[in-house]
Amino acid sequence: MSITEILSVERNEEWRALLRKSMKASERTAMERVHMPEVPAEERVLSHVEVNAGLTLEQATNEAKRCLDCVDPTCVSGCPVGIHIPHFIKRIETGDFAAAAKVLKQTNALPAVCGRVCPQEKQCESQCFYTKKMQKIPVAIGSLERFAADWERESGNISVPETEKPNGVKVAVVGSGPAGLAAAGDLAKMGYSVTVFEALHEIGGVLKYGIPEFRLPNVLVDVEIDVLKQMGVEFKTNFVVGKTASFDDLRNLGYEAFFIGSGAGLPNFMNIPGENLNGVFSSNEYLTRVNLMGASKKGYDTPVLSGKNVAVIGGGNTAMDSVRTAKRLGADRAMIVYRRSMDEMPARAEEVKHAIEEGIEFLTLHNPLMYIGDQRGRVTQMQLQKMELGEPDRSGRRKPVPMEGSEFIVDVDTVIVSIGVSPNPLVPQSVPGLDVSTWGTLKVDEKNMQTSIPYLFAGGDIVRGGATVILAMGDGRKAAAGIHQYLTSKKKVAATTY
Ligand code: FAD
Ligand code: SF4
Repeated sequence: MSITEILSVERNEEWRALLRKSMKASERTAMERVHMPEVPAEERVLSHVEVNAGLTLEQATNEAKRCLDCVDPTCVSGCPVGIHIPHFIKRIETGDFAAAAKVLKQTNALPAVCGRVCPQEKQCESQCFYTKKMQKIPVAIGSLERFAADWERESGNISVPETEKPNGVKVAVVGSGPAGLAAAGDLAKMGYSVTVFEALHEIGGVLKYGIPEFRLPNVLVDVEIDVLKQMGVEFKTNFVVGKTASFDDLRNLGYEAFFIGSGAGLPNFMNIPGENLNGVFSSNEYLTRVNLMGASKKGYDTPVLSGKNVAVIGGGNTAMDSVRTAKRLGADRAMIVYRRSMDEMPARAEEVKHAIEEGIEFLTLHNPLMYIGDQRGRVTQMQLQKMELGEPDRSGRRKPVPMEGSEFIVDVDTVIVSIGVSPNPLVPQSVPGLDVSTWGTLKVDEKNMQTSIPYLFAGGDIVRGGATVILAMGDGRKAAAGIHQYLTSKKKVAATTY
């Protein structure tokens, strides 16, 4: 059923009349946006407690009242998985929180995750009527999504989406990040027998090993994965496709089609002197050690030094996560070194605000030239150079230009390089004839995410390079539909539309 059909059936005239009677549009637009309560900065830096505390029932109901239930809800077009936004928000307004959660799950397998980490200000909320037509602060769609998903989980009555009768056809998903999980959920709904193969010992991809507990507690990801298990999705961990078994081996085991969601886990470095010194990490390694391997706890085999002078190179979400983690591990001086200015910083505004509140130092318009070590090969200092902004480059952002003679030395005992990621070449290299771009990403047909090999579909960061959770999920869903169409055309399953 299309979005328009669902909306026309369930939000009929009777429903609208009821809402119009409850409150006038002018009363709704006069209300102030409710702000999510936060744990105070001085308290939260002492542990990994979640920073955003979630809306109370009263706050959520009030915020839901701001939604105008637009006839043409433009916010929906801003959501890469097409959540029926006014529809779930109106359920919150009327106090039917279980129904709100159910609406979310029709199109989004991970609402508690997306409500927390989606860059809503650039997606759904940027398309809200308040933003577009009234120059007002948009409805807090992400906070409401989080509220409905959390309410359902805390009620202990988690709904599991219905699945079709098993059709006996096996489909493999490579990688258990958001792209793989979204594809697996949709394929299971269609009745496929789905196995997700994951290289690591934990399921969840970056949601588990990258994004820290203080933004996204791992236990929430587990609850959403458990729903997929209840839908019949099977997970095999410690299984590296391309090493543990090849695609051909898996085809011989009866897998008819594959979704590749292997992400972009290969960190980029600057290739400057001293990057091999001890104490210089990539963000991936640093965060994985802390988030997945217990590095911040006593008695674990994979510790990270609790650096006192920590420099994080970069200005994206990953850099903010790394520097705020270092602060929580006891850094006295935790600094961001970024070659452009605050205005060009790619991290979400909320993350930058939280970092500033937590005492993170921002060395903007600075770039490292080299790292200097002691006799034991440990990093002790870095040489920085000041930058100024020149003409806009191809990305439209003003290009940072080095200022000659501005070099200086800063003491550091830990450096975390966070300047972007590339796809791990293992999967692309393990399939002869697979079309790969010059950046190492997989080339796909954007309509259905099919690669140059007909039975292989792909999406998420392996196709886009480092992007976002919800874009990865949108790709996973599109690929699931593509796989269904492919298997239908091969007469492996009977034709059905979803
Ligand atoms: P991933 O999440 O990377 O998952 C890929 C999985 O595939 C991994 O588990 C990997 O182990 C597995 N794998 C790889 N190769 C194989 C193989 N050969 N066999 C089996 N398994 C394999 N996005 C946001 O929207 N909001 C944020 O706030 C945000 N913060 C971020 C913070 C950090 C620290 C990082 C690193 C990223 C952040 N992102 C954020 C980006 C977002 O997490 C990614 O875009 C998203 O996770 C990509 O999803 P994916 O499924 O394509 O890949
Ligand atoms: Fe907005 Fe993300 Fe929720 Fe979609 S999934 S409605 S983009 S917060």
